[in-house]
Amino acid sequence: MSFENLGLSAELLRAVVEQGYTQPTPIQSQAIPVILDGRDILAGAQTGTGKTAGFTLPLLQRLHRKSRLEPGSKTGSGACQIRALILTPTRELAAQVGESVATYGKYLSLKSAVIFGGVKINRQIQALRKGVDILVATPGRLLDHVSQGTLDLSRLEILVLDEADRMLDMGFIRDIRKILALLPASGRSGRQNLLFSATFSNEIKKLADTLLDTPVLIEVARRNTAAEAVMQIVYPVDRQRKRELLSHLVGSQNWQQVLVFTRTKHGANRLVKQLDQDGLSAVAIHGNKSQAARTRALSDFKQGRVRMLVATDIAARGLDIDQLPHVVNFELPNIAEDYNHRIGRTGRAGNVGEAISLVCIDEHRLLQDIERLLKRKIPNRVLAGYEPDPGIKAEPIQNGSNAGGRRPSGSQGRGAVRSQPSSRHTTSSRNAPASGRRRSSRSRSAA
Ligand code: AMP
Repeated sequence: MSFENLGLSAELLRAVVEQGYTQPTPIQSQAIPVILDGRDILAGAQTGTGKTAGFTLPLLQRLHRKSRLEPGSKTGSGACQIRALILTPTRELAAQVGESVATYGKYLSLKSAVIFGGVKINRQIQALRKGVDILVATPGRLLDHVSQGTLDLSRLEILVLDEADRMLDMGFIRDIRKILALLPASGRSGRQNLLFSATFSNEIKKLADTLLDTPVLIEVARRNTAAEAVMQIVYPVDRQRKRELLSHLVGSQNWQQVLVFTRTKHGANRLVKQLDQDGLSAVAIHGNKSQAARTRALSDFKQGRVRMLVATDIAARGLDIDQLPHVVNFELPNIAEDYNHRIGRTGRAGNVGEAISLVCIDEHRLLQDIERLLKRKIPNRVLAGYEPDPGIKAEPIQNGSNAGGRRPSGSQGRGAVRSQPSSRHTTSSRNAPASGRRRSSRSRSAA
């Protein structure tokens, strides 16, 4: 199968060739013809599979081909009427998807913009005033624009929910429902809906039932699952010697680009300082950093100006860094599934990556949970000089501001969620999935 056979226009093929893609990935070969045909889809695919091009290319083609509204169409009150909306859970993912839309659409005359929170709204308003066909947005800021009268969704032709499971995980379901209520009718002659999710919880199925019209179900094998593209190693080490071991590994093996995960924002900041003292340039990315600082950190890391990016889970969602060779779990995540998301940052788009976990005695339960999820043991390597001291006893894991150890099994964080009935991050316990994937507000605030 080649891109030419998928029915894409010359302008899009040219952009694809410029990216150096020779063959469509499985999600692209399956999704592109179906989307071009105007069908709704429910796609099981995670980052790293090429899903962004899988929905962006046909979306661009459909908008380009269909008779369109006037460029920069506005309502009587001046609100920008967009034609396609791509909703993403995080700012970073929105920025990346926005880049993809601009890249693949560079030979078409469609206009796109990206809006997310954490930055001033005025420039976004100006961009909307100039007219936008395709908007990539995070849910909260999108609703801010609607309520300010700068954006109108009543003529939307295509809706994409990207990483829908993460949006639900992050408590965006109410915002999503509000957004859906603002859209025109769905169905074959109306709006087209594309839902992408790495997992299919009951909540996702429920959302799919309300949103999608006889969707085509597309599922592709995970390209960057633990087993395939990522070499994984556990280094047992004492809690107090992790930083020393990390610096040793980076220095002795001359790693030049390393993404490091900590459990907490505070832990990320502290590690950056310590690495700096070891002469390793590092920068932190987490929820307490301004959007400008997060963007700068990511760009410095991508350009090779800093060697190490130290991230918490939420800040790292959807990061797409080409050919990232090394991911280090400085601390194991509290939620086993997050291990897969973390190590999925490497071994992307067919490259081989290495994922290293520094595991101290406190984390043995977490490691067991992860290995149960992977259905196999991760190879273990004890480095001479860093052997764990058998005299050290396990201690409860500190989770930043709410040092309470890991979430008790079976509680699924519901209590924590209930106790914080604030708007955006609240999820009703009625909707809490049985799998325990939901992130508690405790781990959210720590990240
Ligand atoms: P995504 O899953 O959309 O985040 O894409 C993951 C990575 O795969 C991105 O760096 C894309 O540039 C890259 N990519 C997407 N499509 C292809 C393709 N057909 N061939 C090679 N790389 C691709």
